[in-house]
Amino acid sequence: GRKYAEPVQVYRGPFQRDRDRIIHTAAYRRLSHKTQVFTNELGDYHRNRLTHTLEVCSIARTIARALRLNEDLVEAMALMHDIGHPPFGHSGEDVLDVCLADDGGFSHNRHALRIVEVLEQRYPDFPGLNLSMETLEGQQFRAAKKDALVSPSLEAQVVDAADSIAYDSHDADDALELGLLDLSQLKEVSIWNTAVKKVSEGRDLSPVLLRRAVAHELIDVQVQDLLENTVVKIERSQLQSAEQVKSQQPIVGHSDQMMHEKDDLESFLMQNVYRHPSVIRVRDSAQAALRSLFKLLKTKPHLLPDNYARRSEEIGLQRTIGDYIAGMTDRFAWREHARLLEN
Ligand code: MG
Repeated sequence: GRKYAEPVQVYRGPFQRDRDRIIHTAAYRRLSHKTQVFTNELGDYHRNRLTHTLEVCSIARTIARALRLNEDLVEAMALMHDIGHPPFGHSGEDVLDVCLADDGGFSHNRHALRIVEVLEQRYPDFPGLNLSMETLEGQQFRAAKKDALVSPSLEAQVVDAADSIAYDSHDADDALELGLLDLSQLKEVSIWNTAVKKVSEGRDLSPVLLRRAVAHELIDVQVQDLLENTVVKIERSQLQSAEQVKSQQPIVGHSDQMMHEKDDLESFLMQNVYRHPSVIRVRDSAQAALRSLFKLLKTKPHLLPDNYARRSEEIGLQRTIGDYIAGMTDRFAWREHARLLEN
């Protein structure tokens, strides 16, 4: 159901409708100019927040179909999962969280709900997108980090798993293409080595082809492991209802062996990629820009656009500035910074 009752549509199911509403938001379109891990001044090859979202969606739908879950629901939740990200990804999120510390802080997961429930105004009969409860539930779970439920729906669990499968594979691929890593460094990572052996099969592949093939293979081995492990757990748990899913530990997941290998890859990426000096350098300057924008708008609120200035009378100046900055793309944030602070 939906918070505001709406007539059903004969040609489109409720979750298809949710998906369509999500992809018609401004927040969704802006994902194309928001950082995933690497900012756009580093090049044009690597993933941005939108292409990451599409990769998650594609992986999540494959898993959902194989497990005979609701593919439309999974698609809607996947397309929404990162919609709340501010410019510059987690670096931007950290700045807003500090700036809004005495106002409840900032998290991209909570902000995604704010976008789809309040901020996107495009329908005359209700605020936000009036999405189905099932579509919202996955995001509510991410935002609240548990509370009443032990687990979200199986569809929401699939989206979380697909997110992790996507970034573990594409962050390694992007870092290699950007020259932040070279292939020999990854030899210490066992999941990478297994994938290399599988794709090369004794052939001598060029470094570029090897890298690309391994990036795909990494997704494949993770998805296969997830499916095998999850099918066994579903059978063992004798699930009878969606409600039963929510009262027990998550069922969609990897084998212990795969979890271990993913942890190794993630620690490697943390050490060698996310903390790479050229990533840190861009991150520091982006964070400084957002901090000074926030500070400036706080002391000179008349610089806010009219619609935000009006909203600040209802919800307070701090949260309004937070909403305004969170809605910015990377390049709009840089442009506003240059316009307001560099002259
Ligand atoms: Mg994501």
